[in-house]
Amino acid sequence: MVDRIIGKIETGKPGPTVVFFAGIHGNEVAGVFALEKVFGELDKLNAKIRGKIYGICGNLKALASNKRYIKEDLNRLWTKSNIKKIAIKEKLSDEEEELVSLMVILEKILKDDPGPYYFIDLHTTSSKTLPFITINDALINRKFSANFPVPVILGIEEFLDGPMLSYINQLGYVAIGFESGQHDEAISITNNIAFIFLTLVFARLIKKKSLPEFEVYFNQLKDASGDVSEIFEIIYLYRIQNGEHFKMLPGFESFESVSKGMPLAMSDGFTVESQYKARLFMPLYQKLGDDGFFLIRSIPYFALKLSSFLRKIKFDNLLVWLPGIQWESREKEILRVDLNTAKYFTGPLFHLLGYRIRVMDENYLRLYNREHAAKTEMYRGEKWY
Ligand SMILES: [Zn+2]
Repeated sequence: MVDRIIGKIETGKPGPTVVFFAGIHGNEVAGVFALEKVFGELDKLNAKIRGKIYGICGNLKALASNKRYIKEDLNRLWTKSNIKKIAIKEKLSDEEEELVSLMVILEKILKDDPGPYYFIDLHTTSSKTLPFITINDALINRKFSANFPVPVILGIEEFLDGPMLSYINQLGYVAIGFESGQHDEAISITNNIAFIFLTLVFARLIKKKSLPEFEVYFNQLKDASGDVSEIFEIIYLYRIQNGEHFKMLPGFESFESVSKGMPLAMSDGFTVESQYKARLFMPLYQKLGDDGFFLIRSIPYFALKLSSFLRKIKFDNLLVWLPGIQWESREKEILRVDLNTAKYFTGPLFHLLGYRIRVMDENYLRLYNREHAAKTEMYRGEKWY
């Protein structure tokens, strides 16, 4: 059985703290192997490193049985309400125990170690895929991700409840998911090793010139992702219902272009067609999981520029002058838009402003601000910012 802590390096020299997680899903071992390899090599480089580095194992029990999870998906438990519930619960499930143990480590790091912090979560996918980054759309995440020569997917958290990185993001820190390839392919380990080293250089724990293989690692990821290094947003998720028999048609790869009306999967004997001309993303080719497939589209450059600008000038402060739009609380974390007004504004506008559109009741749309929580000041002095 693997240990919770795969590796830990305390250089004693002041600098950022980088925390890598692997095996949050127990059938995704590439990150665990990659971290074991990297920590071996980091020991030799020790004199040239500053700050602190952690490699942490996610779902130990699921890793031991090579399953995505034992009872429930550990990467869907990290909502504030659920964590409160777990804190007072007497008998915990396997995954709840794992969460508590990870939470203790996380809190200790945030208490004892200096920032800026970087949290990186390593995953693999069941389908063939280019390596890619997933982030919650806060500018600090976007800017740090822009260093890597791989595609970036924004806003996956709008479709998923309780991924660990969204929880860490709400605390305000840079939090980046890296999907290195298909579960059991050797290249998934190679891509992870490259990503880990590049992270340490971009976060300035290792100087570029102290890492002779820098170019090799950079080109490894650049080649593995072909010519694709755009920023994409998710426009659709096919969610599998309880009891539904869902099966992807064979042979699809993540990032493959699909046309509107193209048959993608079978559900209870019926064909599931693509609703859009888009790229297919994370088609499900394993038994466990509720997310059948996503569709994604690249975000035009001008929209990315416009959204940085609108966020910098805090354009949302002007929106609340309009009828039907108000802050839900004084902390300006949640915008409440009444549904009559919401008709005139589209989701994309609020996405540009950094909002996550999530909970709706009969009268209101509630929009959660991802930018508000970001501890931007912590990162402003960093080179990539
Ligand atoms: Zn995963």
